[in-house]
Amino acid sequence: MDRRKFINLSGLGITSFSIPNFIQSTIPTSSIQPIVASTWDAGLRANVAAWDILKNGGKSLDAVEQGVMVTENELNCCVGLGANPDRDGIVTLDASIMDHEFNCGSVAFLERIKHPISVARKVMEKSPHVFLVGAGAQAFALANGFSLESADLSDQAKKNYEAWLKTSNYQPIINVEKHQSATYNDSAFDAPKKLTDGQWNHDTIGMIAMDQFGNLSGSCTTSGAGFKMRGRVGDSPIIGAGLYVDNEVGAVVATGQGEDVIRVAGASAVVEWMRQGKSPEAACKLVVEKINRIKKEKAKDIQVCFVAINKKGNVGAYALQKGFNFSVYNNEGNKLNDAAYLI
Ligand code: ASP
Repeated sequence: MDRRKFINLSGLGITSFSIPNFIQSTIPTSSIQPIVASTWDAGLRANVAAWDILKNGGKSLDAVEQGVMVTENELNCCVGLGANPDRDGIVTLDASIMDHEFNCGSVAFLERIKHPISVARKVMEKSPHVFLVGAGAQAFALANGFSLESADLSDQAKKNYEAWLKTSNYQPIINVEKHQSATYNDSAFDAPKKLTDGQWNHDTIGMIAMDQFGNLSGSCTTSGAGFKMRGRVGDSPIIGAGLYVDNEVGAVVATGQGEDVIRVAGASAVVEWMRQGKSPEAACKLVVEKINRIKKEKAKDIQVCFVAINKKGNVGAYALQKGFNFSVYNNEGNKLNDAAYLI
């Protein structure tokens, strides 16, 4: 059967059971509306680049890579080389990416490379592996055309680090988010917000998207927890924890206290709840509740948040604590939403 006949069949409402997967992924379906969702208000700016690709018929994989590269470029933000260093004063970056066919790539403990998300994509596409770390990840990046950037801290990160060194108190605090629901053209979002010197804040952008073919992809990039122990790796580069995509079900990305996302295989767990028929928000909530049960009274000291999208293009999010927001761009525009929360 040729491609045109397949398109005709799908137009007659014949279910996808009759259409092999490899053909489904090449057929634009008019009922599918592209959508991109990302963590925090930095996501508003990142979404713009992703939406540019999606609205022009591009692939979700390209959208989620290009989208988070915007945040990696924002030197005052907490992602990329401008971010807060570890407690030895060195910026180390983690990133992961996953497409609609279970292809995935990650890097962790990566130094002096501007776009870890693109190195993660190269690991996925050009290596037989999924995950490269440290010096090996950096050597792989250099061998694949990335350049070695300066080891100097950004001005803001230097101030933050110097302020932190005064106490060197090794105790991560939960994320702080100043802005609540708004749309992209609010002037507050035209530039990355400045942190108070020494303030700890969220350090991640995660992005999930569906393209006009109905294919899902996700990306996640971070400097991890500010002033972390040297060598610490969080959930963001761990497939199944900080990011997971199952094109039959949905895509999920996490932010917050990485250790507590890893111990419940967070993103993968949310996908499995969606497979059981839960909405994206309900699925995120079930995993947040599990973390709350595990942490008991310590739950109030951490923040954990998930954003999910299902195969119908519905987006939902849920956080352990108040204050998490997520950005969604679809045909109706680019909007910051407050997530529901448990505590
Ligand atoms: N999840 C990240 C980590 O633990 C941090 C964050 O999202 O703020 O590395």
